[in-house]
Amino acid sequence: MTETLDHDDIRQSVRRLCAEFPGTYWQAKDRTREYPTEFVQTLTREGFLSVLIPEEYGGAGLGIGAATAVLEEIHRSGCNGGACHAQMYTMGTVLKHGTPEQKQQYLPKIATGELRLQAFGVTEPTSGTDTTRLTTFARRDGDHYVVNGQKIWISRAEHSDLMVLLVRTTAREDAAKTSDGMSVLLVDMREAVGNGLTVRPVRTMLNHATTELFFDDLKVPVSQLIGEEGKGFRYILDGMNAERILIASECIGDGRFFIDRASAYAKDRNVFGRPIGKNQGVQFPIARAYVQLSAAAEFVNKAAALYDAGKPCGTEANMAKMLASEASWFAADMCIQTHGGFGFAEEYDVERKFRETRLYQVAPISTNLILSHVATHVLGLPKSF
Ligand SMILES: Cc1cc2nc3c(=O)[nH]c(=O)nc-3n(C[C@H](O)[C@H](O)[C@H](O)COP(=O)(O)OP(=O)(O)OC[C@H]3O[C@@H](n4cnc5c(N)ncnc54)[C@H](O)[C@@H]3O)c2cc1C
Repeated sequence: MTETLDHDDIRQSVRRLCAEFPGTYWQAKDRTREYPTEFVQTLTREGFLSVLIPEEYGGAGLGIGAATAVLEEIHRSGCNGGACHAQMYTMGTVLKHGTPEQKQQYLPKIATGELRLQAFGVTEPTSGTDTTRLTTFARRDGDHYVVNGQKIWISRAEHSDLMVLLVRTTAREDAAKTSDGMSVLLVDMREAVGNGLTVRPVRTMLNHATTELFFDDLKVPVSQLIGEEGKGFRYILDGMNAERILIASECIGDGRFFIDRASAYAKDRNVFGRPIGKNQGVQFPIARAYVQLSAAAEFVNKAAALYDAGKPCGTEANMAKMLASEASWFAADMCIQTHGGFGFAEEYDVERKFRETRLYQVAPISTNLILSHVATHVLGLPKSF
C-alpha cells in the first residue's frame, strides 16, 4: 500500500470491501449478538488490520493517518470496526516495549492474522476509571507468574488468541508511586482459558462481544512479561493515544453515515406534499451536524498528524475523541429525528448505529475524565481527585 495525504486509495478499497457487508449482514449479527467473523476475516486478508505494523514484520508500515482512514470508511459504510480495531493498535505495546525475540515471535503472525491480538484487559469492576487501584495481581513463582483477580468489559476476549493484560506485581501501598508496580503480560488465551481463566460474555445494548474475566491461579510464563516489571502503566498509557485517535475516527465515520442517511431521507420523504428536507426545522439540524462533525474531523486529523510526527499528543487525542464522540452522537439523534418512526425500524440501520455510537462517550475513556485532564493538565485548575 502506498501512503497519500488523504488516503484516497485506501478509502476506496475499504468502501468496496464494505459493500459486501450490507445492513442485512449487520442486522442479523446484531439480533443474535454474533461476532462478525466473515467481516473480520476479509479485512484481515486484505491487509487493513496490519497497516500500523512495520514492513519488517509483514505489515504495511503506514502511519495512524492511514488507520483512521480505514476505520472512518468502515463506519461511514454502516459497518462496525469495534469487532476488530484492537488488532490494529494493541500490538503497539509489543512493538514499542517488547524484546526483539517477542517482536519476532508475535508481530509477523499478528500481521497475517494467524494470531489475533484483539483483547486488551485493563478495566476492573471495583476500580473503574481509577486504574491505579486495580487489584488483579500477578505473583512471581519461579519462571511463572500466578495471576488472580477479575476484569470487566474486556471486549473480543472470546475471539482473540492473545491478550495484553495489565496487572499489579506490587501492591499499590508498597509502590513508590501509585502508578508504579503495574506490569503488562501477554497472555496466550488458547492456553489460559479453562486453566485458570474463565471468560463470561456480558450482553450489552450493542453487539460488542464484551466479557468478564475471572483469574484463578492462572500461570503465565515470565517470558510473557512485556517490558520491565512495574512499569506497565506507562506502556498502557502510551497505547491509549493511538486508541483514542482511532476511536475518534470511527465516530467521524458514524457521523458521516448519519448525515448521509438523513440528507438522503429528507430529500426523498414527502409529507404535506413536499420533501421534509424543504423545512428548515429538518434541514438545519442536518447542517448543524455537518458543521460540528467537520470541525471534529479536523481535530482528529490534527491529533493523528502529531502522533505520526512522534510529538506529544495526549491532550489532542483526548480532545479529538471527545469532540468526535459528541458530534457523532448529535448526528445520531438528528438522524433518528429526521427519519421519524422509520428511525426506529431495524431495517434502516439507524437505530443500530445510534446504539453503537453512544458507546464512545463512555469507552475507552468517559467524557468527564477527558474534561478533568484538560482542566488540570492544560488549564492548571486544581485536581479534584
Ligand atoms: C462495551 C464496552 C466495551 C469495553 N471494552 C473494554 C476493553 O476491551 N478493555 C478494557 O479494559 N475496558 C473496556 N471497557 C471499559 C471502559 O473503558 C470503561 O467502561 C470506561 O473507561 C468507564 O469506566 P467505568 O465503566 O469503570 O466507569 P466509572 O469509572 O465507574 O465511572 C462512572 C461514571 O462516573 C464518572 N466519573 C468517575 N469518576 C469521576 C470523577 N472523578 N469526576 C467526574 N466524573 C467521574 C465517569 O465519567 C462515568 O461517567 C469497555 C466498556 C464497554 C461499556
